Amino acid sequence: PDNNAPPMPWFGMDIGGTLTKLVYFEPRENNRRELDKETEVLKNIRRYLTRNSAYGKTGRRDVHLQMENVTIRGRRGSLHFIRFPTSEVGAFLQLARSKGMADLVNTIYATGGGAYKFEEDFKKEVNMRLSKLDELDALIAGVLFVDSMNAQECYYWAPPNEEPVHQHPTDTPPYSAEALSAYVRKPFDFSSPYPFLLVNIGSGVSMLVVNGPSDYYRVSGTSLGGGTFLGLCCLLTGCSSFEEAIALAASGDNTTVDKLVRDIYGGDYARFGLPGDLVASSFGQMCAVERRAKVSREDLARATLVTITNNIGSIARLCASNENIQRVVFCGNFLRVNPLSMKLLSYAMSYWSRGALKALFLEHEGYFGAVGCLLHLDS
Ligand code: ADP
Repeated sequence: PDNNAPPMPWFGMDIGGTLTKLVYFEPRENNRRELDKETEVLKNIRRYLTRNSAYGKTGRRDVHLQMENVTIRGRRGSLHFIRFPTSEVGAFLQLARSKGMADLVNTIYATGGGAYKFEEDFKKEVNMRLSKLDELDALIAGVLFVDSMNAQECYYWAPPNEEPVHQHPTDTPPYSAEALSAYVRKPFDFSSPYPFLLVNIGSGVSMLVVNGPSDYYRVSGTSLGGGTFLGLCCLLTGCSSFEEAIALAASGDNTTVDKLVRDIYGGDYARFGLPGDLVASSFGQMCAVERRAKVSREDLARATLVTITNNIGSIARLCASNENIQRVVFCGNFLRVNPLSMKLLSYAMSYWSRGALKALFLEHEGYFGAVGCLLHLDS
């Protein structure tokens, strides 16, 4: 064990534009006895966090993501993954105060814009200092650490016959439920990862070229991200949560909303290899009043999801080929409970690169920034 390690409890926090992610390290029992330092307050915090999976009205623990036997600074233990809407930071601070955290923790390692925005509130409400880390540094450190600790972390979606999809007029984009359901999740060995393009789809999107653990740069980004999907979906369908938006999209059909190549050509645009089923104009049918009258909420949600996802896929592909990179790793909470987007991205990467690019995904989706913070808790 590292004797210079800061006192427990160990947290890492990522206060994002939409969600706040909190990662908590629970030391293993014999560690705790060994140290024999666990105070009543510390014990209460540990029990409160590890025995519940919901906190207050909106806090949730992603129990399925919990990691066992993780070693950090010579200590073994479990990692717990908790999230709540950033709009509830005030309620979080009240809860932290009521659990006595304010007396125990004087520094929280935090990243994300909220680490700046809410710094004063943390100081005033619970007398906690935020030690701020850059969110992209934290993100990459978190990805590499979690992948090294979890053999199942990295995966891809394999098309039905595992052959890379090549650009061919008879290949049609798998927008239909049947075509997408044929994709299966398979583990990917990410032990020699470099170089890779990391595409973080949060409220907005950042794209990073990663050549080594601390050798990376931000190549691109787009403001059309997860926040755009949810915002537009709320406007268009009246839905009120991400889960609802995803459920609507899962049972919708975007071809009633979008204008396809075949709606314009009557079939394929064969000369340039554009299949008839390809979207030529996202939302292109919605300028016709008869079409609008017939469209369902599900179809609108599906079209919004496909539009945002394909736009991100297309920018990612351009960046990857520009930088001569074959592996594109997607993360961020937009992909939470969202296999539809992952499959669309997988298809698009492979199809438009004639099989040269591979889309990869990570099990801990949106938590890497928070993990990265936890790791740097020595600085
Ligand atoms: P940020 O750090 O910008 O908050 P995240 O990686 O946490 O980014 O992703 C936020 C996005 O994740 C939202 O814009 C939305 O598309 C999606 N999302 C997934 N789950 C939820 C949820 N429970 N509430 C709100 N948005 C969610």
